[in-house]
Amino acid sequence: MVKRRKLNILGLFLVVCILVTIVVIGIYFYTYQQKRKILSNIELKIANVNKYFVYGTHLNIECTLSGIETSNIKDIKFTLVDLLENEKEYNSIYEINGDEVNVKTSNLINEGIYLEDIECGKHFLFLKITYFNDQEKYYSMSNNTSYPEIEYYTITRDNLNKRINIEFDKFKLDNGEITYIKFNVARVRLPASVYDISIDPGHGGSDPGAVYKQYKESEIVMKYSIELKKALENIGLKVVLTRDGTEDTSKTSKFNVYSVYDFDGRVNIVGRARAKYNLSIHVNSLDTNTLSGTEIYAPSKASLDIAQSLADNIVNMANTTYSTRDTDKVSNGVYVRTFTENEITESAKNARKKGFEPYNITTSTPYLYMIREVGGMITGAYIDGRNKDYGTNLYCNSNIGVESYLIELGYIINKTDLSNMLNNESSYIEAITKSIQEYVCER
Ligand SMILES: [Zn+2]
Repeated sequence: MVKRRKLNILGLFLVVCILVTIVVIGIYFYTYQQKRKILSNIELKIANVNKYFVYGTHLNIECTLSGIETSNIKDIKFTLVDLLENEKEYNSIYEINGDEVNVKTSNLINEGIYLEDIECGKHFLFLKITYFNDQEKYYSMSNNTSYPEIEYYTITRDNLNKRINIEFDKFKLDNGEITYIKFNVARVRLPASVYDISIDPGHGGSDPGAVYKQYKESEIVMKYSIELKKALENIGLKVVLTRDGTEDTSKTSKFNVYSVYDFDGRVNIVGRARAKYNLSIHVNSLDTNTLSGTEIYAPSKASLDIAQSLADNIVNMANTTYSTRDTDKVSNGVYVRTFTENEITESAKNARKKGFEPYNITTSTPYLYMIREVGGMITGAYIDGRNKDYGTNLYCNSNIGVESYLIELGYIINKTDLSNMLNNESSYIEAITKSIQEYVCER
């Protein structure tokens, strides 16, 4: 009897074990299926990416999705999904034309998908369309451009960096294959050649820039740039200068204004550094003493928040004023200078005279080359070597652009401005550093 009871207990135990195992496996598969509700339900229709680029710290995407039911679309978002299907959504701007939608991340080049705060690991980017019946559909995207995949390095924070590889990959389904955008995010050491910020001390070599009495723009901005580099390094950033003040001052200098695009020219130094931001430092000049104050030049089609912050902080902290200049002014101290119709016609005329095809310039192309050329295809860079006088911007076709601002500290022949620039350097540096701290490091 005793033996028999033992067997019964053992049998019961085994049965319980098997039941528990079945329940656990069941729960596992149920939750797994639940968790895969996005990745196993991607629509077979695929959106075509017509444009994608990184400018500063943001990824911008423009795509078209055709052949879908569009009559009851409530909202469209871009959504970044990780392997556990946690989602991070980004607003989009979209337009519906019949059975087609055109979707983009933003109208502004320095907005869109912020790359700095994406967690390490694998992520997939989809279009998420919500309908008025609250149904949600996920669409993947394929590359309709000739642009290469993107390798992005995040800005140094606490001595740490991430590398983000943005690629178009393929995924096999039971009923076909879909292309999708994959983000691979990993902690890495920043390569020696990659920097967070580039500082470009204007002019140099045989070009002194603005001159008044014994004062030269090229020398004033060199001093500022060296100090600014130290200040930004003190808040943990990796900074490169486009020149160091030791360049040849003879007429054959490679830092002559007409060879800025050669391999060691300032434009290519910034491109090679893969900086997220570039700050060009200048001193203004005019023949008549009618203008004064600080001007920040910003890219066109961009959010002007950083530019405004730079202008406000400099005015508040460095005892200077917003510039009195009205031309190209957008707001206090902030300027956007683009080509005028006349300048475009002149440029084309010159090109033909010299025997090359005119550049593709529009009235929204930035006029200042340290804003236009370092932004690559995004800002309409065009120095592609066709005009032999200029050399070549090796990064003019890049879809990874450096977000660039040009700071005119003040006017050299204005007495107040000049004395301010000469005696108040540390306040200017503090003001610029404060803006970078707020908009780049603590965002
Ligand atoms: Zn200048």
